[in-house]
Amino acid sequence: MSDMTVQDDAVVTLTYTLTLDDGTEVDAAGTEDPLVYLHGHDNIIPGLEIALTGLKVGDSRQVSIAPANAYGDFDPDAIVTIPYEDFPDDIELEEGMALELQNERTGEFYEAFIEELSDEGAIVDLNHPLAGEALNFDVTIVAIRAATRDELDHGHPHGPGGAHA
Ligand code: ZN
Repeated sequence: MSDMTVQDDAVVTLTYTLTLDDGTEVDAAGTEDPLVYLHGHDNIIPGLEIALTGLKVGDSRQVSIAPANAYGDFDPDAIVTIPYEDFPDDIELEEGMALELQNERTGEFYEAFIEELSDEGAIVDLNHPLAGEALNFDVTIVAIRAATRDELDHGHPHGPGGAHA
């Protein structure tokens, strides 16, 4: 099925480099360790998925994704001061330190960094590290195949490069 296109319920293998507008390369996947994902199941950011839809094996694309379709706009209100008494006693706080925090509403864990240790507490930036950044992907489609029943049930690919590999 070499003429299969990138579409919902397809397992897609691709290589990419990800750079920011200032040219910084933040991530890459080459032919040795390509990205394998299940299209149409929220495995990758929506803006990239839309741009890849309809491509064939061997196609390359340069895709620029605005912050709103990637990790969101930078939110100045998301820089907060956490009083020192809210931290466990056995943690030695340092500027630049990563903290594992939990969203009270969703229960989701995420990493945030201490910007500064002020008199009132630790100033922490809760924005995603890539918030406010346009993401520039240089992508090449390596393989496309139909997903198996199990993969569709699980919502992710199996086998080499996929989950449970
Ligand atoms: Zn699975």
